[in-house]
Amino acid sequence: MDRRHLLKNSLALGGFMGLGGCAATPPAEVKPAPPVAPRVPIMDRPPPLAPIRAHTDRLFDIKVCIRPFRTKGPNLDVEQIGDAMVVHNYGHGGSGWSLSWGSADMAVQKAMSRSPKQIAVIGCGIIGLTSAITAQRAGAQVTIYTRELLPRTRSVRANGSWTPDSRIALAAEAPANFGETWEQMARMSWKNLRPYLGLAGNPVAFTDMYRLSDTPLGREAPRDPSIPPLPPPSWSGLPTQSSDFGRYADRILDITPQTQVLADDINPFPVKHVTRTTNLFFNFTEYGHLLTSEFFAAGGKIVMRDFHAPSELTHLPEKVVINCPGFAARDWWKDKAMMPVRGQTGWLIPQPEVKYALTYRNVQILSKSDGIMVIALENGDMKGYNNSDESVNRAESERAVKVIEELYSRFPTNPA
Ligand SMILES: Cc1cc2nc3c(=O)[nH]c(=O)nc-3n(C[C@H](O)[C@H](O)[C@H](O)COP(=O)(O)OP(=O)(O)OC[C@H]3O[C@@H](n4cnc5c(N)ncnc54)[C@H](O)[C@@H]3O)c2cc1C
Repeated sequence: MDRRHLLKNSLALGGFMGLGGCAATPPAEVKPAPPVAPRVPIMDRPPPLAPIRAHTDRLFDIKVCIRPFRTKGPNLDVEQIGDAMVVHNYGHGGSGWSLSWGSADMAVQKAMSRSPKQIAVIGCGIIGLTSAITAQRAGAQVTIYTRELLPRTRSVRANGSWTPDSRIALAAEAPANFGETWEQMARMSWKNLRPYLGLAGNPVAFTDMYRLSDTPLGREAPRDPSIPPLPPPSWSGLPTQSSDFGRYADRILDITPQTQVLADDINPFPVKHVTRTTNLFFNFTEYGHLLTSEFFAAGGKIVMRDFHAPSELTHLPEKVVINCPGFAARDWWKDKAMMPVRGQTGWLIPQPEVKYALTYRNVQILSKSDGIMVIALENGDMKGYNNSDESVNRAESERAVKVIEELYSRFPTNPA
């Protein structure tokens, strides 16, 4: 490690909660550098960050799930099955938590076109639950029919960050106007999440997210070549790369916090290149309880039921049905556009003092109320395309924990 790096580590150390003041004494011949006025306004400097106790023996849970990715984008079509009008609402890929309210709004508008007094919702994942509550808000009496309740659904095996454009469609297969539909969904969801901020238990909360890299960081991977590139905001410090394709997320730059490059003098990590953004995330337990209570408080009913063929829907008393089966649509609705995208999350014992997220060397960390989530990424996004294997791979999570363990081992230890 060279001298410059050592000094940087000492700076970083001063920024870490509980470690301040224990920087190594510089060698005698090195004169301490005169204090340099920080270049960054005080409100933009990172707060003290608690270290993460990343050790494989603290990995207490591993969850595997498949994203309900639909190559054409989420299905919101309307179908008539016998005397039942079925409005689909499934296929949200890696964006279901983020887009749920906007998608529910679109589905319920279609369902209410028949002015039904009663609506059936199939499924009790995040899409079913938000559709049910939205239908109640529109004045309908709602019954959810489902095989599993939220805590047992694939929804709670997700990551649960605001990622509205993750695995949402293949640009080549999505309808031409999908960008507009997506934008409408994303904006509506963002608006609907607002009342869930600041509540006890933080069902929905903001967190700072640090992106660490050994090499200079560019913009995130392009997702949809049909979206014209937008330059990053001038204050973000990111270089404008004219060769960039746009991302769906670029359509909502005006409502989402943008990335800031951390200059050397405020970078708290022993890694050369760091950016920070602020992102919304979901604490599943608290948010799930809240939504379920809200549903019951508005008179909702839940019936445990497993459907095997679309024709079974005609036996329901409700004649308007919102169909939210997630990935199961591939089998029970024979939707061939559904493509599994496997994802695994490891969980370290919760550390409430850790109030940030980071990514480094293809590992993502997010501190939540029920644990510190660790994910092994691939090329900056999750791997697992066309993989429906839902068995746990502990070695994958252990490898990811070790990357983070090594990162924190670079900070000098407390003197004896
Ligand atoms: C690893 C991973 C990370 C993710 N990270 C994020 C993220 O950070 N942000 C984000 O926004 N999204 C993320 N997602 C995506 C998100 O989790 C999904 O898009 C979302 O959970 C889909 O919800 P759903 O309600 O459609 O499906 P599900 O949660 O699968 O719910 C389907 C419901 O339908 C019921 N059902 C299915 N078939 C039948 C049947 N035949 N009869 C009766 N009931 C039936 C099930 O019991 C269940 O209740 C991630 C997903 C994964 C796997």
